[in-house]
Amino acid sequence: MTDLSALPPAPGAGECAPASRRAVIPLRERGQREVFCGLTGIVWLHRKMQDAFFLVVGSRTCAHLIQSAAGVMIFAEPRFGTAILSDRDLAGLADANDELDRICVELLARRPDIGTLFLVGSCPSEVIKLDLAKAAERLNARLLPRVRVLNYSGSGIETTFTQGEDAALRAMVPVLPHSDAQQLLVVGCLADVIEDQFRRVFEALGIGPVAFFPARRAGDLPAVGPGTRVLLAQPFNGETMRALVARGAQVLEAPYPLGAEGTSAWLRAAAQAWDVPAQRFDEVVQPLAERAQRALARYRPRLEGKRLFLLPDSQLEVPIARFLARELGMQLIEVGTPYLDRQMIGAELDLLPEGVQVSEGQHLERQLDRLRDAQPDLTVCGLGLANPLEAEGYATKWSIELVFTPIQGYDQAADLAEVFARPLERRSRLKV
Ligand code: SF4
Repeated sequence: MTDLSALPPAPGAGECAPASRRAVIPLRERGQREVFCGLTGIVWLHRKMQDAFFLVVGSRTCAHLIQSAAGVMIFAEPRFGTAILSDRDLAGLADANDELDRICVELLARRPDIGTLFLVGSCPSEVIKLDLAKAAERLNARLLPRVRVLNYSGSGIETTFTQGEDAALRAMVPVLPHSDAQQLLVVGCLADVIEDQFRRVFEALGIGPVAFFPARRAGDLPAVGPGTRVLLAQPFNGETMRALVARGAQVLEAPYPLGAEGTSAWLRAAAQAWDVPAQRFDEVVQPLAERAQRALARYRPRLEGKRLFLLPDSQLEVPIARFLARELGMQLIEVGTPYLDRQMIGAELDLLPEGVQVSEGQHLERQLDRLRDAQPDLTVCGLGLANPLEAEGYATKWSIELVFTPIQGYDQAADLAEVFARPLERRSRLKV
Protein backbone atom coordinates (compact mmCIF):
# COMPACT_ATOMS: atom_id res chain seq x y z
CA MET A 1 0.00 0.00 0.00
CA THR A 2 1.14 3.57 -0.63
CA ASP A 3 1.70 5.20 2.73
CA LEU A 4 0.81 8.73 1.72
CA SER A 5 0.52 9.75 5.36
CA ALA A 6 4.26 9.19 5.74
CA LEU A 7 4.91 12.37 3.77
CA PRO A 8 4.86 15.76 5.45
CA PRO A 9 1.51 17.33 4.52
CA ALA A 10 1.71 19.64 1.54
CA PRO A 11 0.79 23.23 2.46
CA GLY A 12 -2.34 24.50 0.78
CA ALA A 13 -2.64 27.51 -1.46
CA GLY A 14 -0.96 30.55 -0.03
CA GLU A 15 0.10 28.82 3.17
CA CYS A 16 3.56 29.32 4.54
CA ALA A 17 6.17 26.58 4.61
CA PRO A 18 5.57 24.04 7.39
CA ALA A 19 7.02 24.87 10.79
CA SER A 20 9.01 21.64 10.58
CA ARG A 21 10.90 22.83 7.48
CA ARG A 22 14.30 21.17 7.32
CA ALA A 23 17.18 23.61 7.84
CA VAL A 24 19.48 22.31 5.13
CA ILE A 25 22.71 24.31 5.14
CA PRO A 26 24.39 23.83 1.77
CA LEU A 27 28.05 23.99 1.01
CA ARG A 28 28.25 27.13 -1.17
CA GLU A 29 30.88 27.04 -3.85
CA ARG A 30 31.87 29.59 -6.45
CA GLY A 31 34.46 28.83 -9.09
CA GLN A 32 34.85 27.18 -12.47
CA ARG A 33 31.60 25.54 -13.66
CA GLU A 34 30.82 22.96 -16.31
CA VAL A 35 27.36 23.58 -17.74
CA PHE A 36 25.58 24.12 -21.06
CA CYS A 37 23.94 27.47 -21.80
CA GLY A 38 20.22 28.28 -21.91
CA LEU A 39 20.04 27.85 -25.69
CA THR A 40 19.82 24.11 -25.01
CA GLY A 41 16.24 24.57 -23.80
CA ILE A 42 15.19 25.24 -27.40
CA VAL A 43 15.63 21.51 -28.07
CA TRP A 44 12.68 20.47 -25.91
CA LEU A 45 10.71 23.73 -26.09
CA HIS A 46 10.38 23.63 -29.88
CA ARG A 47 9.16 20.04 -29.71
CA LYS A 48 6.51 21.01 -27.19
CA MET A 49 5.20 24.24 -28.74
CA GLN A 50 4.38 23.16 -32.25
CA ASP A 51 3.60 26.61 -33.65
CA ALA A 52 6.69 28.34 -32.22
CA PHE A 53 9.95 29.22 -33.94
CA PHE A 54 13.12 29.96 -31.97
CA LEU A 55 15.49 32.34 -33.72
CA VAL A 56 18.81 32.56 -31.92
CA VAL A 57 20.60 35.83 -32.56
CA GLY A 58 24.14 34.66 -32.08
CA SER A 59 27.38 33.29 -33.46
CA ARG A 60 28.37 30.19 -35.41
CA THR A 61 29.15 28.55 -32.06
CA CYS A 62 25.54 29.06 -30.98
CA ALA A 63 24.33 27.60 -34.30
CA HIS A 64 26.57 24.54 -33.86
CA LEU A 65 25.35 23.99 -30.32
CA ILE A 66 21.69 24.01 -31.29
CA GLN A 67 22.13 21.95 -34.44
CA SER A 68 24.18 19.26 -32.77
CA ALA A 69 21.93 19.12 -29.69
CA ALA A 70 18.63 19.08 -31.61
CA GLY A 71 19.69 17.36 -34.81
CA VAL A 72 18.17 18.42 -38.11
CA MET A 73 15.32 16.54 -39.69
CA ILE A 74 15.88 15.99 -43.38
CA PHE A 75 12.27 16.05 -44.51
CA ALA A 76 10.88 18.64 -42.12
CA GLU A 77 11.95 22.23 -41.81
CA PRO A 78 13.15 22.75 -38.24
CA ARG A 79 11.49 25.35 -36.03
CA PHE A 80 14.71 26.81 -34.78
CA GLY A 81 17.56 28.61 -36.46
CA THR A 82 20.34 31.09 -35.90
CA ALA A 83 20.66 34.60 -37.30
CA ILE A 84 24.45 34.72 -37.30
CA LEU A 85 26.01 37.99 -36.29
CA SER A 86 28.78 38.77 -38.77
CA ASP A 87 32.04 40.61 -38.10
CA ARG A 88 30.43 43.75 -39.53
CA ASP A 89 27.56 43.46 -37.03
CA LEU A 90 29.96 42.87 -34.17
CA ALA A 91 32.11 45.83 -35.22
CA GLY A 92 29.02 48.04 -35.39
CA LEU A 93 29.50 48.66 -39.14
CA ALA A 94 26.12 47.24 -40.17
CA ASP A 95 22.72 47.96 -38.67
CA ALA A 96 22.00 44.61 -37.05
CA ASN A 97 18.44 45.75 -36.27
CA ASP A 98 17.55 46.25 -39.94
CA GLU A 99 19.09 42.88 -40.80
CA LEU A 100 17.18 41.15 -38.02
CA ASP A 101 13.84 42.68 -39.08
CA ARG A 102 14.45 41.58 -42.66
CA ILE A 103 15.34 38.02 -41.65
CA CYS A 104 12.25 37.71 -39.40
CA VAL A 105 9.85 39.05 -42.03
CA GLU A 106 11.30 36.72 -44.70
CA LEU A 107 11.18 33.75 -42.36
CA LEU A 108 7.54 34.34 -41.41
CA ALA A 109 6.51 34.87 -45.02
CA ARG A 110 7.97 31.43 -45.79
CA ARG A 111 6.49 29.74 -42.69
CA PRO A 112 2.75 30.34 -42.33
CA ASP A 113 2.69 27.60 -39.64
CA ILE A 114 4.53 29.85 -37.17
CA GLY A 115 2.30 31.72 -34.70
CA THR A 116 4.90 32.70 -32.10
CA LEU A 117 8.45 33.79 -32.81
CA PHE A 118 10.97 33.80 -29.98
CA LEU A 119 14.02 35.98 -30.50
CA VAL A 120 16.64 34.30 -28.34
CA GLY A 121 19.60 36.37 -27.16
CA SER A 122 23.06 34.86 -26.83
CA CYS A 123 26.47 35.86 -25.44
CA PRO A 124 27.45 37.75 -28.65
CA SER A 125 24.13 39.62 -28.97
CA GLU A 126 24.45 40.66 -25.32
CA VAL A 127 28.05 41.76 -25.77
CA ILE A 128 27.09 44.13 -28.60
CA LYS A 129 23.97 45.14 -26.63
CA LEU A 130 21.51 44.30 -29.36
CA ASP A 131 18.16 45.20 -27.82
CA LEU A 132 15.92 42.22 -28.62
CA ALA A 133 13.06 43.58 -26.49
CA LYS A 134 12.92 46.63 -28.76
CA ALA A 135 13.22 44.37 -31.81
CA ALA A 136 10.24 42.30 -30.58
CA GLU A 137 8.21 45.48 -30.00
CA ARG A 138 9.05 46.76 -33.51
CA LEU A 139 8.16 43.44 -35.12
CA ASN A 140 4.93 43.05 -33.14
CA ALA A 141 3.78 46.43 -34.46
CA ARG A 142 4.14 44.95 -37.97
CA LEU A 143 3.13 41.34 -37.44
CA LEU A 144 0.42 41.09 -34.77
CA PRO A 145 -2.14 39.51 -34.71
CA ARG A 146 -0.87 36.83 -37.13
CA VAL A 147 2.42 36.31 -35.29
CA ARG A 148 3.46 37.31 -31.79
CA VAL A 149 7.15 38.04 -31.25
CA LEU A 150 8.69 37.49 -27.81
CA ASN A 151 12.27 37.65 -26.63
CA TYR A 152 14.45 36.13 -23.94
CA SER A 153 18.11 35.44 -23.27
CA GLY A 154 19.70 32.01 -23.60
CA SER A 155 23.17 33.39 -22.97
CA GLY A 156 25.44 31.09 -21.02
CA ILE A 157 27.61 33.58 -19.19
CA GLU A 158 25.97 33.16 -15.79
CA THR A 159 23.30 30.53 -16.27
CA THR A 160 22.70 26.82 -16.50
CA PHE A 161 20.90 25.12 -19.36
CA THR A 162 17.46 24.62 -17.81
CA GLN A 163 17.17 28.37 -17.23
CA GLY A 164 16.46 28.62 -20.95
CA GLU A 165 13.00 27.16 -20.32
CA ASP A 166 12.44 29.47 -17.37
CA ALA A 167 13.43 32.51 -19.45
CA ALA A 168 11.15 31.49 -22.35
CA LEU A 169 8.12 30.93 -20.11
CA ARG A 170 8.87 34.08 -18.13
CA ALA A 171 8.78 36.02 -21.42
CA MET A 172 5.25 34.72 -22.06
CA VAL A 173 3.78 35.67 -18.67
CA PRO A 174 3.08 39.35 -19.47
CA VAL A 175 0.96 38.38 -22.51
CA LEU A 176 -1.18 35.79 -20.69
CA PRO A 177 -4.81 36.95 -20.53
CA HIS A 178 -6.30 37.81 -17.15
CA SER A 179 -8.97 35.71 -15.45
CA ASP A 180 -10.33 35.64 -11.90
CA ALA A 181 -11.75 32.15 -12.39
CA GLN A 182 -10.52 29.25 -10.30
CA GLN A 183 -8.24 26.94 -12.27
CA LEU A 184 -5.18 24.74 -11.90
CA LEU A 185 -2.14 25.78 -13.91
CA VAL A 186 0.59 23.16 -14.31
CA VAL A 187 3.82 25.01 -15.04
CA GLY A 188 6.82 23.44 -16.79
CA CYS A 189 7.39 21.68 -20.07
CA LEU A 190 6.03 18.11 -20.01
CA ALA A 191 5.96 15.53 -22.78
CA ASP A 192 2.49 15.34 -24.36
CA VAL A 193 2.02 11.74 -23.19
CA ILE A 194 2.60 12.80 -19.57
CA GLU A 195 0.34 15.82 -19.92
CA ASP A 196 -2.43 13.48 -21.13
CA GLN A 197 -1.89 11.10 -18.18
CA PHE A 198 -2.08 13.93 -15.64
CA ARG A 199 -5.15 15.38 -17.35
CA ARG A 200 -6.93 12.05 -16.90
CA VAL A 201 -5.97 11.86 -13.20
CA PHE A 202 -7.08 15.44 -12.48
CA GLU A 203 -10.35 14.73 -14.25
CA ALA A 204 -10.91 11.57 -12.18
CA LEU A 205 -10.22 13.59 -9.02
CA GLY A 206 -12.66 16.31 -10.06
CA ILE A 207 -9.93 18.96 -10.24
CA GLY A 208 -10.38 21.53 -12.95
CA PRO A 209 -10.34 23.37 -15.18
CA VAL A 210 -6.68 22.50 -15.76
CA ALA A 211 -4.28 24.28 -18.10
CA PHE A 212 -0.69 23.40 -18.92
CA PHE A 213 1.98 26.04 -19.47
CA PRO A 214 3.49 25.88 -22.00
CA ALA A 215 0.63 24.51 -24.09
CA ARG A 216 1.15 22.42 -27.23
CA ARG A 217 0.52 25.55 -29.26
CA ALA A 218 2.35 28.59 -27.93
CA GLY A 219 -0.57 30.73 -29.09
CA ASP A 220 -2.95 28.90 -26.70
CA LEU A 221 -2.11 31.13 -23.78
CA PRO A 222 -3.60 30.09 -20.44
CA ALA A 223 -5.26 32.81 -18.38
CA VAL A 224 -3.86 33.83 -14.99
CA GLY A 225 -5.20 35.72 -11.99
CA PRO A 226 -6.18 35.42 -8.33
CA GLY A 227 -8.13 32.18 -8.91
CA THR A 228 -5.10 30.45 -10.44
CA ARG A 229 -3.37 27.75 -8.38
CA VAL A 230 0.06 26.93 -9.77
CA LEU A 231 1.42 23.39 -9.55
CA LEU A 232 5.05 23.32 -10.61
CA ALA A 233 6.06 20.40 -12.80
CA GLN A 234 9.73 21.38 -13.14
CA PRO A 235 11.99 22.73 -10.40
CA PHE A 236 13.85 25.22 -12.59
CA ASN A 237 11.11 27.72 -13.46
CA GLY A 238 11.60 30.04 -10.49
CA GLU A 239 11.41 33.34 -12.38
CA THR A 240 8.25 32.20 -14.17
CA MET A 241 6.72 31.20 -10.85
CA ARG A 242 7.49 34.63 -9.34
CA ALA A 243 6.05 36.40 -12.41
CA LEU A 244 2.83 34.35 -12.12
CA VAL A 245 2.58 35.16 -8.41
CA ALA A 246 2.98 38.86 -9.29
CA ARG A 247 -0.09 38.37 -11.54
CA GLY A 248 -2.10 37.06 -8.58
CA ALA A 249 -1.54 33.29 -8.83
CA GLN A 250 -0.93 31.17 -5.73
CA VAL A 251 1.61 28.37 -5.69
CA LEU A 252 0.76 24.94 -4.32
CA GLU A 253 3.95 23.85 -2.68
CA ALA A 254 4.78 20.20 -3.29
CA PRO A 255 7.55 17.81 -4.21
CA TYR A 256 7.90 17.19 -7.95
CA PRO A 257 6.08 14.33 -9.72
CA LEU A 258 9.10 12.04 -9.90
CA GLY A 259 8.62 8.50 -8.66
CA ALA A 260 5.47 7.07 -7.09
CA GLU A 261 5.87 8.98 -3.83
CA GLY A 262 6.65 12.34 -5.46
CA THR A 263 3.74 11.98 -7.90
CA SER A 264 1.30 11.15 -5.08
CA ALA A 265 2.46 14.14 -3.01
CA TRP A 266 2.25 16.43 -6.04
CA LEU A 267 -1.28 15.32 -6.86
CA ARG A 268 -2.26 15.58 -3.22
CA ALA A 269 -1.27 19.29 -3.12
CA ALA A 270 -3.83 19.93 -5.88
CA ALA A 271 -6.41 17.64 -4.27
CA GLN A 272 -6.15 19.55 -0.98
CA ALA A 273 -6.61 22.89 -2.74
CA TRP A 274 -9.76 21.48 -4.44
CA ASP A 275 -11.02 19.83 -1.22
CA VAL A 276 -11.06 16.39 -2.83
CA PRO A 277 -12.27 13.89 -0.18
CA ALA A 278 -9.49 11.60 1.08
CA GLN A 279 -11.44 8.50 0.08
CA ARG A 280 -11.85 9.64 -3.50
CA PHE A 281 -8.17 10.61 -3.66
CA ASP A 282 -7.16 7.14 -2.49
CA GLU A 283 -9.56 5.42 -4.90
CA VAL A 284 -8.06 7.24 -7.87
CA VAL A 285 -4.42 7.43 -6.86
CA GLN A 286 -3.77 4.25 -4.88
CA PRO A 287 -4.00 1.76 -7.80
CA LEU A 288 -1.73 3.94 -9.94
CA ALA A 289 0.79 4.40 -7.12
CA GLU A 290 0.81 0.69 -6.31
CA ARG A 291 1.42 -0.24 -9.93
CA ALA A 292 4.34 2.20 -10.03
CA GLN A 293 5.73 0.78 -6.77
CA ARG A 294 5.57 -2.75 -8.17
CA ALA A 295 7.46 -1.61 -11.25
CA LEU A 296 10.04 0.15 -9.08
CA ALA A 297 10.53 -2.90 -6.86
CA ARG A 298 12.21 -4.65 -9.78
CA TYR A 299 14.94 -1.99 -9.76
CA ARG A 300 15.56 -1.90 -6.02
CA PRO A 301 18.01 -4.86 -5.91
CA ARG A 302 20.04 -3.21 -8.68
CA LEU A 303 20.24 0.22 -7.05
CA GLU A 304 19.88 -0.28 -3.29
CA GLY A 305 22.99 0.62 -1.32
CA LYS A 306 24.76 2.03 -4.39
CA ARG A 307 26.55 5.31 -3.63
CA LEU A 308 25.53 8.33 -5.68
CA PHE A 309 27.23 11.68 -6.33
CA LEU A 310 25.26 14.37 -8.17
CA LEU A 311 27.16 17.26 -9.73
CA PRO A 312 25.26 20.54 -10.30
CA ASP A 313 23.80 20.81 -13.80
CA SER A 314 20.07 20.45 -14.49
CA GLN A 315 18.48 21.77 -11.24
CA LEU A 316 16.68 18.41 -11.08
CA GLU A 317 19.34 17.05 -8.72
CA VAL A 318 17.46 17.46 -5.43
CA PRO A 319 14.19 15.79 -6.57
CA ILE A 320 16.15 13.02 -8.30
CA ALA A 321 18.24 12.42 -5.17
CA ARG A 322 15.08 12.29 -3.05
CA PHE A 323 13.55 9.71 -5.41
CA LEU A 324 16.64 7.52 -5.62
CA ALA A 325 17.25 7.58 -1.86
CA ARG A 326 13.69 7.10 -0.63
CA GLU A 327 12.21 4.81 -3.26
CA LEU A 328 15.26 2.84 -4.35
CA GLY A 329 17.55 2.90 -1.31
CA MET A 330 20.54 4.59 -2.95
CA GLN A 331 23.04 6.27 -0.64
CA LEU A 332 23.63 9.96 -1.32
CA ILE A 333 27.21 11.16 -1.01
CA GLU A 334 26.66 14.71 -2.28
CA VAL A 335 23.72 16.42 -3.94
CA GLY A 336 25.04 19.34 -6.00
CA THR A 337 22.69 21.89 -7.51
CA PRO A 338 23.50 25.02 -9.52
CA TYR A 339 21.08 27.10 -7.41
CA LEU A 340 19.24 26.36 -4.22
CA ASP A 341 15.92 28.16 -4.62
CA ARG A 342 14.05 27.24 -1.45
CA GLN A 343 10.77 28.56 -2.85
CA MET A 344 11.09 25.97 -5.60
CA ILE A 345 12.54 22.98 -3.77
CA GLY A 346 11.74 23.52 -0.07
CA ALA A 347 9.33 20.56 -0.06
CA GLU A 348 12.01 18.39 -1.67
CA LEU A 349 14.69 19.38 0.83
CA ASP A 350 12.33 18.27 3.63
CA LEU A 351 12.34 14.76 2.17
CA LEU A 352 16.09 14.28 1.76
CA PRO A 353 17.69 11.91 4.25
CA GLU A 354 18.86 13.68 7.42
CA GLY A 355 22.40 15.05 7.24
CA VAL A 356 22.98 14.57 3.50
CA GLN A 357 25.59 16.89 1.99
CA VAL A 358 23.93 19.43 -0.33
CA SER A 359 26.14 21.81 -2.31
CA GLU A 360 25.14 24.89 -4.29
CA GLY A 361 27.13 26.28 -7.19
CA GLN A 362 30.40 24.76 -8.26
CA HIS A 363 34.12 24.86 -7.73
CA LEU A 364 34.91 22.11 -10.16
CA GLU A 365 38.36 21.10 -8.95
CA ARG A 366 37.33 20.91 -5.30
CA GLN A 367 34.20 18.98 -6.14
CA LEU A 368 36.12 16.50 -8.26
CA ASP A 369 38.57 16.01 -5.37
CA ARG A 370 35.64 15.17 -3.10
CA LEU A 371 34.24 12.82 -5.73
CA ARG A 372 37.56 10.97 -6.11
CA ASP A 373 37.87 10.65 -2.34
CA ALA A 374 34.35 9.22 -2.10
CA GLN A 375 34.65 6.81 -5.06
CA PRO A 376 30.89 6.76 -5.86
CA ASP A 377 29.25 3.86 -7.68
CA LEU A 378 27.37 6.34 -9.91
CA THR A 379 27.91 10.00 -10.78
CA VAL A 380 25.22 12.20 -12.33
CA CYS A 381 26.86 15.03 -14.25
CA GLY A 382 26.90 17.17 -17.38
CA LEU A 383 28.04 15.84 -20.73
CA GLY A 384 31.38 17.64 -20.55
CA LEU A 385 32.42 15.74 -17.43
CA ALA A 386 30.97 12.34 -18.23
CA ASN A 387 33.66 11.13 -20.65
CA PRO A 388 36.67 12.16 -18.52
CA LEU A 389 35.07 10.53 -15.47
CA GLU A 390 34.25 7.36 -17.42
CA ALA A 391 37.89 7.27 -18.52
CA GLU A 392 38.88 7.36 -14.84
CA GLY A 393 36.66 4.34 -14.20
CA TYR A 394 33.50 6.00 -12.84
CA ALA A 395 30.00 5.07 -14.01
CA THR A 396 28.18 8.22 -15.08
CA LYS A 397 24.74 9.36 -16.14
CA TRP A 398 24.26 12.51 -18.23
CA SER A 399 21.90 14.81 -16.38
CA ILE A 400 20.72 16.36 -19.66
CA GLU A 401 18.98 13.04 -20.42
CA LEU A 402 16.55 13.85 -17.60
CA VAL A 403 15.05 16.75 -19.54
CA PHE A 404 14.88 14.89 -22.85
CA THR A 405 13.24 11.75 -21.40
CA PRO A 406 9.63 11.58 -20.17
CA ILE A 407 10.21 10.85 -16.47
CA GLN A 408 7.28 12.42 -14.58
CA GLY A 409 4.27 10.56 -13.26
CA TYR A 410 3.42 7.02 -12.18
CA ASP A 411 3.79 5.31 -15.54
CA GLN A 412 7.30 6.71 -15.99
CA ALA A 413 8.61 5.91 -12.47
CA ALA A 414 10.26 2.66 -13.59
CA ASP A 415 11.71 4.35 -16.70
CA LEU A 416 13.31 6.89 -14.38
CA ALA A 417 14.85 4.10 -12.28
CA GLU A 418 16.07 2.44 -15.50
CA VAL A 419 17.95 5.64 -16.41
CA PHE A 420 20.18 5.09 -13.36
CA ALA A 421 20.33 1.30 -13.40
CA ARG A 422 21.62 1.16 -17.00
CA PRO A 423 25.06 2.77 -16.51
CA LEU A 424 25.70 0.61 -13.44
CA GLU A 425 24.93 -2.52 -15.41
CA ARG A 426 27.04 -1.40 -18.33
CA ARG A 427 30.02 -0.84 -16.05
CA SER A 428 29.56 -4.16 -14.28
CA ARG A 429 29.56 -5.89 -17.70
CA LEU A 430 32.75 -4.05 -18.66
CA LYS A 431 34.44 -5.31 -15.49
CA VAL A 432 33.78 -8.97 -16.29
S1 SF4 B 1 27.55 29.89 -24.31
FE1 SF4 B 1 27.05 31.81 -25.39
S2 SF4 B 1 28.29 31.77 -27.28
FE2 SF4 B 1 28.24 29.68 -26.45
S3 SF4 B 1 26.52 28.68 -27.52
FE3 SF4 B 1 25.71 29.50 -25.59
S4 SF4 B 1 24.94 31.57 -26.10
FE4 SF4 B 1 26.25 30.91 -27.80
